[in-house]
Amino acid sequence: MKISVKLTANAGVIVKIGDKVVLSDALHKTYVPRFSSVPSSIIESVENGTMCGSADVFLISHYHEDHFDSDLVKKYLSIHKSFCIAPFEFTDLAYCPKNERGSLTENGIRINYYQTLHAGKYSSDRHFVYKISYNGFSAVFMNDSAIRENDFSFVTEDGRPDVIFATFPWITLNTGKNLLNRFEIGDIIIYHLPFLEDDIISFNYAAERAFQKYSGKGNIHILNKPGQEIELFK
Ligand SMILES: [Zn+2]
Repeated sequence: MKISVKLTANAGVIVKIGDKVVLSDALHKTYVPRFSSVPSSIIESVENGTMCGSADVFLISHYHEDHFDSDLVKKYLSIHKSFCIAPFEFTDLAYCPKNERGSLTENGIRINYYQTLHAGKYSSDRHFVYKISYNGFSAVFMNDSAIRENDFSFVTEDGRPDVIFATFPWITLNTGKNLLNRFEIGDIIIYHLPFLEDDIISFNYAAERAFQKYSGKGNIHILNKPGQEIELFK
């Protein structure tokens, strides 16, 4: 089964798993200093209904504007029949679970959600990590989770995912590296980086250096270019 991952911007990705399409934090349009926002070509494709066809599942981790734009997501959902899940209410077209964790199956894709602490000063903002499974393949999206030693036993508790999507501090901080190594996941996708032209604090340089030095388990792929696409096979 062919798996491909395409960056929209920041921690926004379009994941194709065989015949299924999953969006994760894929649509945000407000420029946030230090990070990247979705290119205008993708925003136009949302407006005219041609963006990647209808995703089966649209995952939203939290409401911060470098992950989510209410108008853009509502526009997408008004055109497509995607199942959308978010940890906050913003439209009747999306589902907001009340529990801290749970699972459901929509359009053939199993979705597990886990409420985790957001990194830094935003710990009171409700935030979800998702694990999705389809046809023997699974992936976990860590989103903006605070990287803490004892919070992530769920990542491998019901089977090891094939792919983990992790923000760049997962490879620049020792706690993150140790956890990634312990998870033993085959492919590690590092995201939530600015495009090079927006990179005023050299986050890409830090990520690249950490990538060169990483000696733990798993193949690291860095997503930081507009429209960047990688293929993984299972
Ligand atoms: Zn955030």
